[in-house]
Amino acid sequence: MGTLGSEAYRFLGALGSAGHLPAAEGDYIGADGRLHCGKCGRPREFRLPCNGRYVSCRCGCDDAMLERERQADRLREEQERVREMQRYSLADERFRLATFDRFRADGPEDRRVLDLCRNYVEHFDRMYAAGAGLLFRGRPGTGKTFAAGCIANALMARRVPVLVTSLVRLTAEGDGDALNRLLPKMNAARLMVLDDFGAERDTEFKAEQVFSVIDARYAAKKPMILTTNLDGFTSVSDPRRRRVYDRILEVCTPVPMNGESRRLKEAELLRGEIRPLLRDGAAEPAMDEQRRTRPDERRAEGSTV
Ligand SMILES: [Zn+2]
Repeated sequence: MGTLGSEAYRFLGALGSAGHLPAAEGDYIGADGRLHCGKCGRPREFRLPCNGRYVSCRCGCDDAMLERERQADRLREEQERVREMQRYSLADERFRLATFDRFRADGPEDRRVLDLCRNYVEHFDRMYAAGAGLLFRGRPGTGKTFAAGCIANALMARRVPVLVTSLVRLTAEGDGDALNRLLPKMNAARLMVLDDFGAERDTEFKAEQVFSVIDARYAAKKPMILTTNLDGFTSVSDPRRRRVYDRILEVCTPVPMNGESRRLKEAELLRGEIRPLLRDGAAEPAMDEQRRTRPDERRAEGSTV
């Protein structure tokens, strides 16, 4: 039986390994006599001062891998929490069908919006880091919801946690406590889309709730995309609204949607097709004419019957 000191000494003496650690492909022994990582060049082992034996240490690759794992865990956690928000989600048929391949960019106005939406998705990491959002403004039917939906769907396809909802829905439960419980979960979403901002009832209490949603997002520096029919975002003087609008305008880039109303265009197109029928009551010639022109040509010439 040795003394405590000699036991400890034996224990320390056996720590580590006598030779180099097993090398991975590309690893090499550096000028310092230690095994270095072939990928990042940093040492993968060091020698214990007490016995000169080798023990492993983390090279940069391990750190990068751990960071990637941590990132993936964070994303999973966020997705989980966003899923809990399901019943506040507006992910209905209209949103499900909003995808870039269905985006009809007929004119320069549409193409401008399409490019902007694609760029937002492409550079979302930077948008997220900067807390940068968008504010789609325009008359009803100009495709604001569709544009926001395209962004949301493209990001969700990349596993980015996105919450698509509206203030009407978020504040439907009435009491402020319910909303306060929602706010942290809401912010687990990397992007929050608030459809039809300004459609909520205009009461003191609602205004307070709307402010807390926008402010929570703002304070967390997380991006949001809003769609709204409201005019006068910049000119409103009511201080209660001013406070909310200012927050929004500070973090969301306004995207005016001046394009010809999408719904009107659809209706015009339909009218263009049925007008000859109504006018002449002659179905045959009109149908023949349609067969000769491709649908996109018909769309381009509009309904000048
Ligand atoms: Zn390495």
